[in-house]
Amino acid sequence: MTAKVLPTPRWDRLRRVENFGHSIRTPGFVFQPATEEQVLEVLQRAHKQGARVALRGSGRSYGDAAMASGQWVLDLRRMNRIVAWDPKQGRLTVEPGVTVAQMWPYTLPDGWWPAVVPGTMRPTAGGCAAMNVHGKNNWHAGTWGEHITQVRVLTPTGQVHDLTPQDDAFWAVMGGLGVLGVITRMTLQLKPVASGNLEVRAWATPNLERTLADLDAAKDEYEYVVAWVDGTARGRGLGRGQLHAARHLPAHAEPFPHRTLDPAYQVLPDTFFGVVPKGLLWRFMRPFMHNPGVWLVNTAKYWAARTLGHEKTYRQSLVAFNFLLDYVPQWERAYGPGGLMQYQIFVPHERALQVFADALRWVQKWGVPTYLAVVKRHRPDRFWLSHAVDGFSLAMDFPVRPRRLPALLEVLGYIDRMVLEAGGRFYFAKDATLRPETAWAFLGHETVQRFLDLKRAWDPHDVLQTDLYRRIFGPWPGRKP
Ligand SMILES: Cc1cc2nc3c(=O)[nH]c(=O)nc-3n(C[C@H](O)[C@H](O)[C@H](O)COP(=O)(O)OP(=O)(O)OC[C@H]3O[C@@H](n4cnc5c(N)ncnc54)[C@H](O)[C@@H]3O)c2cc1C
Repeated sequence: MTAKVLPTPRWDRLRRVENFGHSIRTPGFVFQPATEEQVLEVLQRAHKQGARVALRGSGRSYGDAAMASGQWVLDLRRMNRIVAWDPKQGRLTVEPGVTVAQMWPYTLPDGWWPAVVPGTMRPTAGGCAAMNVHGKNNWHAGTWGEHITQVRVLTPTGQVHDLTPQDDAFWAVMGGLGVLGVITRMTLQLKPVASGNLEVRAWATPNLERTLADLDAAKDEYEYVVAWVDGTARGRGLGRGQLHAARHLPAHAEPFPHRTLDPAYQVLPDTFFGVVPKGLLWRFMRPFMHNPGVWLVNTAKYWAARTLGHEKTYRQSLVAFNFLLDYVPQWERAYGPGGLMQYQIFVPHERALQVFADALRWVQKWGVPTYLAVVKRHRPDRFWLSHAVDGFSLAMDFPVRPRRLPALLEVLGYIDRMVLEAGGRFYFAKDATLRPETAWAFLGHETVQRFLDLKRAWDPHDVLQTDLYRRIFGPWPGRKP
């Protein structure tokens, strides 16, 4: 009998593994399987050797979701084949390492766009599913998982589960933090589009109350809506900012569909203002990355929004609107060697104004103002580990500086409590600080137990673990058995 020969997996490379914000760095043995068989081989080896395995896509999570201190890391980016595409129905079946950047150029010429995309096109399908990501259209389209018609999960015991939304476990796997099993393929239902452009409206808002009220009003008229907030403004200007709302163009409003649906039309420019190579831009940003510098930049941005950018309507490509953060490659490096941390809170509609106002005020008072703040409108969903509410989210970026870190952690702890008390939620893709008792409280103990029961059934030896999983679901003082 001849042994089955598999393409060589890339075994055992000890590497430095980092989060997106470059604020956490740990060594890990990185494996890069190219097939389901190789994935299973690694999982079974790990079980035999008593090792733990963390799954990883593009490593675009801000916190410790894809981190694994000193353990094995299964980097799924080599499983990056597009398995099937049905241009009539808009159904795309992909392996988990296929990135959003691979998807849209494949489907757009046929008039289809992913129904939900995060703010960057670098993430993989597996990473988007495991975090159940949302876009600027969360109110209308829900999350990534709401557009998956089928998903295949390989558990560490070698079982394969083909799940559809009719299966209870489907709602646990989407947003399941990559610890129930390895997603090895999924089918997405895309959205038909008649143009590669969106119609965008931009306007400035003078304070937080208007920012939230306008976001809420715009959600009924537009499919996408997002607010940039000046995190350094105080007093009456607290929470002032700029809104961008957008909608797809109907066929009759697009005279050149073939041109705008062509991926070549969607390409982001290589230079900024036609002069500065984009790859260098983060170096220009770096000298401003301190509190007075960020105040200056935010103030200038707000006044530009109030004057030049106020009440403007224009057409913008799908890529330019959705992946604004990809305009400046490696922008996160501008934060310096300590990197950055992002923290996103979700608060029900009726409490959002007070909670966001206090949060913005408190971080200013503690001397750790947010350097970038973004507000979005959300709707609730039925995923087990959901971050969604009928309300708003506020995402805040902070530089990680050893001297300021204790103050930052302290104030985020206070904000956690305030969010919890307001019936709010948190998002694990953007989290590095949440305490387990806070996470269990917002998720609900019963839901967490149900999730852990499924975890025990599918992964009885607890092979799949990440730093996030251990932080939230590991034993902690006060946890009921
Ligand atoms: C600039 C920027 C903008 C962003 N904007 C948004 C946004 O608008 N909305 C939003 O929701 N998120 C946003 N994010 C967060 C990002 O979309 C998520 O963190 C996403 O999960 C990253 O995907 P990834 O492939 O990099 O996964 P990783 O970060 O590598 O991993 C994420 C999780 O997926 C698990 N995982 C990976 N592959 C698999 C698999 N095959 N099977 C099972 N589990 C797996 C990992 O264990 C981990 O728990 C943004 C991130 C950045 C850097």
